[in-house]
Amino acid sequence: MGQDRINREERRDMDFQKNQLLTTEIIDISTEGEGIGRVNGYPFFIKDTIIGDQVEIRAIKLKKNYGYGRLEKVITPSPFRVTPSCCFHRQCGGCQIQAMSYEQQLAFKHNKVRNNLLRIGGFGPEELDRIMEPVVGMEEPFRYRNKAQYPIGMDKEGNPVAGFYAGRTHSIIANTECLLGVDENRTILEAILQYMKEYGISAYEEVSGKGLVRHVLIRKGFTSGEIMVCLVINPEHMKGRTGIREKNSKREWLPHQKELIERLVAIRGMTSISVSINCEKTNVIMGTEIYTLWGKERITDTIFVRDVDNCFARTGDGIAFSISPLSFYQVNPVQTEKLYSLALSYAGLSGKESVWDLYCGIGTISLFLAKKAKQVYGVEIVPQAIDDAKNNAKINDITNAEFYVGKAEEVLPEYYKEYEKTHNGETAHADVIVVDPPRKGCEESLLQTIVDMQPEKVVYVSCDSATLARDVKFLRAKGYELKDVTPVDQFPHTVHVEVVCCLHRVNS
Ligand code: SAH
Repeated sequence: MGQDRINREERRDMDFQKNQLLTTEIIDISTEGEGIGRVNGYPFFIKDTIIGDQVEIRAIKLKKNYGYGRLEKVITPSPFRVTPSCCFHRQCGGCQIQAMSYEQQLAFKHNKVRNNLLRIGGFGPEELDRIMEPVVGMEEPFRYRNKAQYPIGMDKEGNPVAGFYAGRTHSIIANTECLLGVDENRTILEAILQYMKEYGISAYEEVSGKGLVRHVLIRKGFTSGEIMVCLVINPEHMKGRTGIREKNSKREWLPHQKELIERLVAIRGMTSISVSINCEKTNVIMGTEIYTLWGKERITDTIFVRDVDNCFARTGDGIAFSISPLSFYQVNPVQTEKLYSLALSYAGLSGKESVWDLYCGIGTISLFLAKKAKQVYGVEIVPQAIDDAKNNAKINDITNAEFYVGKAEEVLPEYYKEYEKTHNGETAHADVIVVDPPRKGCEESLLQTIVDMQPEKVVYVSCDSATLARDVKFLRAKGYELKDVTPVDQFPHTVHVEVVCCLHRVNS
């Protein structure tokens, strides 16, 4: 139940007072990760609570249809409560549901998808029982992220620190041990902080816009073991200058750069060390200019197809991806392999098919599909991602994948119209269409074109089951039947859940 979807009819005319103490039971978790409890039908959003907690709360904000409460006391803890592994989890807010057992997290995610398909998608409970699979979880739900971005700042004593922004603020809480990231993050960050301390290197200060080191980006290829470190820096003396690369022919971006490199190179797996120049006063982390200080410009990683009928065991089919500091790349490679293997299995390819992969990013799904299809067409709005996709096709010797830059809702309808014109009124057909849109889902005009192209199957990968349910409802009304739905836990300890599902054309 999201804040946006509170049933307005249920509101009772309660006169709550600000600061009033109330008791309630937590019955759901919002899209932001707050617990939700009702008092006489009026819903309160309460941070740091989990489903099943009996709590005392203080009413801190009262809106017409819902309010916010602050947790005063857990009266009876939920049977699903566990001691969080990270002592910073409340301050950080990254892992909203770490205090819930992993088993219960998966049950919560399953219900979230199910409820959206019920309420928004218009499916019946029995139907969902038949087509919905349990959530695909992780065996080890920690240390799953292959990418970390740490802000760098100074503590009160003037020592450089790396950590996370507290809540919605811009003050940094020092912590180099995020349990979602790889072990090496801590070693790398400590080497950088030590170097900064020894050589008096300043950290960026948001208010004044002064100071050198802003962020550290770390990426690790889980299969290859290759590590990339990129320091985002604000070399003020270069602000507004063009041709930085020429003027800086010695490639000295940091004072005592050699000493930093020596320390980082000693870390096992180190493959690429670079700086990214960002002199803007902005929340955007990465700058657009990247300069390699040591090693390669990119790291490589391989994603393997898994056998969905055999406990997701890896098969021999792997696809290599070349990743720059700016590349989009899925952050949980273990679960990505499961998610995309399911998508591939739902597509049911025999080698004869023509397939579209809309919202294709760097072509992760497209290249999986290309190995089993006749021809794949990928569409993606970000031009650099398409450059990556083409490069990835090349390094894997894949020649049957073509990529287009543009909005899916423009490229596909244009292709459809053009095809009709150039083929004497014959309509374009695809055997399978895969979509993996951002949270807002697909535009109706795109869904209509998909229907017009009469694919036998539509495979929908979604990061927001509410928009998925809306889009599936549309496709269903146009002759597509929902056959399989599998949620996949790409982000353990957070409220997010990915879903992959398959729709078949009726009478096809
Ligand atoms: N399937 C890809 C990425 C999916 S994320 C992978 O696994 O690598 C969603 C992608 O949709 C992003 O790459 C984003 O840039 C792209 N995107 C967002 N809006 C779009 C639109 N209107 N048309 C095409 N692509 C879009």
